[in-house]
Amino acid sequence: MSLEQRLKAVIRDIPDFPQPGVVFKDITPILKDQELCDAIVEAFAAQINELGIDVVAGVESRGFLFGLMLANKLSVPFVPIRKQGKLPFKTISESYKLEYGQATIEIHEDAFEAGCRVLIHDDLLATGGTVVAASKLIEKLGGTVAGYAFVISLDFLQSRGRLTRFSEEVVSLVS
Ligand code: 5GP
Repeated sequence: MSLEQRLKAVIRDIPDFPQPGVVFKDITPILKDQELCDAIVEAFAAQINELGIDVVAGVESRGFLFGLMLANKLSVPFVPIRKQGKLPFKTISESYKLEYGQATIEIHEDAFEAGCRVLIHDDLLATGGTVVAASKLIEKLGGTVAGYAFVISLDFLQSRGRLTRFSEEVVSLVS
C-alpha cells in the first residue's frame, strides 16, 4: 500500500464537528501507529530535501505533532506559531478572516534570525487562510517561506494558488 493509501485508511471523517454541516478529518488515529508517523516524517524529509530548510514552523495545535518530529529529523529548530495570547514572550501577530469572524496567530519576535529559510507545516490545508497568515509572520521577521508541508490538503489546486505568492513548493501527502 502507498503512504497515501495507508493514511486514507486511518484518517476518520467526523460529521458535524466542530459544528453542524462540517465534516472534520480526524488525524488522531495516525498517532497510534508509530511506523506510520515515521513514514510521514520520512516522506516530508525526502520531498523537501532540496529546499535548504533552516527552520520548521508549525501551526497550533496539530501542526506541532509532525512539525517537531520533522525539525528533529532535519536537525533544525522548531518554531511554534500559536493562537493569540498563548505565547509567553514578545510576539508579532497577524489576523485573518474565517468564514464567520476572524482569527489571530502569533510568533515570538526572536523565533529565528532574519534571512532564514522557513518550512511552514500544518496538519491540513483547507482555504489556506491560516498558512497565508503564518507566511506573513515569517516574512515580517525577515524570513523566506521556502515551502509548505501538509499531511492532508482539501481542494489542493484552489488553496495551493493562494500560497504560491510566498513559495512554489507545496507538499501534501493526501489530497
Ligand atoms: P484553512 O485556514 O486552510 O482554511 O484551515 C486549516 C486549519 O484548520 C488548520 O490549522 C487545520 O488544523 C484546521 N482544520 C480545518 N478543518 C480541519 C479538519 O477537517 N481536520 C483537521 N485535522 N484540521 C482542520
